[in-house]
Amino acid sequence: MSEEPGAIDCQSVRQILARESAGGVVTLRGWVRTARHSKGVSFLEVGDGSCFAGLQVVAAPELENFEAELRHVQTGYAVSATGEIVDSPGKGQRFELQAQRIEVIGAVAEDYPLQKKRHSFEFLRTIAHLRPRTNTLGAVLRVRNVASAAIHEFFQERGFLLLHTPIITSSDAEGAGQLFRVSTLEAGEPPRTESGSVDFGQDFFGRETFLTVSGQLEAEIAALALTNVYAFGPTFRAENSNTSRHLAEFWMIEPEMAFCDLDGNVALAEAFLKHLISRVLERCADDMAFFNERIDETVLETLQHIVETPFERISYTDAVDILERSGERFEYPVKWGVDLQSEHERYLTEKHIGKPVVVTDYPATIKAFYMYLNDDERTVRAMDVLVPKVGEIVGGSQREHRLDVLQRRMADQDLDRDAYWWYLDLRRYGSVPHSGFGLGFERIVQFMTGMANIRDVIPFPRVPGAAEF
Ligand code: ATP
Ligand code: MN
Repeated sequence: MSEEPGAIDCQSVRQILARESAGGVVTLRGWVRTARHSKGVSFLEVGDGSCFAGLQVVAAPELENFEAELRHVQTGYAVSATGEIVDSPGKGQRFELQAQRIEVIGAVAEDYPLQKKRHSFEFLRTIAHLRPRTNTLGAVLRVRNVASAAIHEFFQERGFLLLHTPIITSSDAEGAGQLFRVSTLEAGEPPRTESGSVDFGQDFFGRETFLTVSGQLEAEIAALALTNVYAFGPTFRAENSNTSRHLAEFWMIEPEMAFCDLDGNVALAEAFLKHLISRVLERCADDMAFFNERIDETVLETLQHIVETPFERISYTDAVDILERSGERFEYPVKWGVDLQSEHERYLTEKHIGKPVVVTDYPATIKAFYMYLNDDERTVRAMDVLVPKVGEIVGGSQREHRLDVLQRRMADQDLDRDAYWWYLDLRRYGSVPHSGFGLGFERIVQFMTGMANIRDVIPFPRVPGAAEF
């Protein structure tokens, strides 16, 4: 908005639509979504991304560039329109802009790929530089924005400190993640050690380094000094899984809390998910109405239900029991000790329970070394939050804070103690029970919008074989 006295007010569609009443001259800048040229008058629907709706701009023949320019305006043109905000006689819109002046700022070449017809999401991914202009991607990006702000709001209100964890790391938080290497060595002829293997000692950091798969281990460091912290940053996994729920680069929210056990962790995850969903329902009402109408007609009902009902909690052992008795023919058979597959997770949350379910206390053998070992010595204090359609959305645990147990678990999993010397130190100096979890940001956005493919809820998806834009 301009502050200069006498200057014409530049306003967004959102600001204009939020007005109490018509009146006053404003300037609106944006892109033409549709242009209707009827006899003696042109209607341009202009959007600027500030909200789902666009604003109708009415161009009358009195405008000096009417014949020469405005009659040729089509979808995609960038324009600046100045005029009075009046009550709209048209249906479905409160106001319109009666133009006194319209400047064409950017015309559109003839081969503009975003014509009015509906395009497939697959096609839109090939034009990721233009797809933010579509209704769907615009709505997705606004939901991401509101959800991001709600994440900070939730933790800040509770006194959690935002921690910036490193993106380049030399440790693999899972003990067996699929890592992207970070290196400045010549790919063709890297230096070799005497034994012939690549000599990473001569690499940029003097050791092997990777893109992080999680900020958890560093978040633990901070939690054991500052009590409650959270990280919200990009994570990278070179998993070659071409699924609709996996990205090679995604954003993760990772709170970590000292003096907190698994129950506290589960409670925080539930409150957090409910907060995020309510904020998005509240602040993105038009976008959410669109998703419900055009993408998934159950999404509003599902989200409302989730906000209002307590999550169910069951142990892994009970979950396996339920699955075994279900009579379902799963592609992957279940028995105690196997990791739950997406089909099992979805059966539990969609069919058996019909709402989000938190599964806890998984077999130690299928979970990471840092999870707290229960007294039964067979299970660990892990928790996964499962939701309909998406399956796992949150994965977390109480961490093993007892030095001897942690060392034993690392030995069991053949992990090199020396590489984790600082992680073990935390258990030697003022160790306390602590817990945390990771929420995949794109998974929750996918869940909230009802979008079928996770590639369509991030502006620039990175997946096997694709990193353009
Ligand atoms: P999954 O079993 O679904 O592959 P995971 O068990 O490997 O997930 P965690 O290591 O527990 O995942 O990571 C925490 C959260 O990060 C998950 O609950 C999920 O929401 C999200 N997540 C994990 N991997 C991906 C991915 N490749 N793309 C997008 N989100 C992911
Ligand atoms: Mn997990």
